[in-house]
Amino acid sequence: MQQGLGDLDELYQEVLLDHYRNPRNTERLDDPTSEVDAINPFCGDEIHMQIGLYGDTVASISVTGQGCSISQAAGSLLTEIVDGRTTTEARELRELFREMMTGEEVSDEVADRLEDSLALQGVRRFPVRIKCALLSWSALIDALDKVAPTKP
Ligand code: ZN
Repeated sequence: MQQGLGDLDELYQEVLLDHYRNPRNTERLDDPTSEVDAINPFCGDEIHMQIGLYGDTVASISVTGQGCSISQAAGSLLTEIVDGRTTTEARELRELFREMMTGEEVSDEVADRLEDSLALQGVRRFPVRIKCALLSWSALIDALDKVAPTKP
């Protein structure tokens, strides 16, 4: 990848580039339960996130934005693991992701839960880019905090 990330594992680079070039779940929701904008001023990254809750489940999610490849790939990767989860599970995933990015050992169980987002693990060796990877996860928490989910 560009931007001095040449040390990242090749397979992980491919995952990130694929999500950067072909981001998933970018279609805007007609009637989002919550939406937020998040910016990372250190890098100029922008994320716009919409979520649609059904009861306590994230039934739909959309992420668009602009900025560096890490921030945009992270947003796309996030949508894949958060879609269909409960709000509680989504918050747990954010904690696991943050722990991974701040240097915690990643157990097999955590690796399973983070799925392809594991590809961002190598970014923690580039401290200035960690905020890029965390941006969309912060947006998710903001979006969840804006709504009091109704029970189905
Ligand atoms: Zn960035």
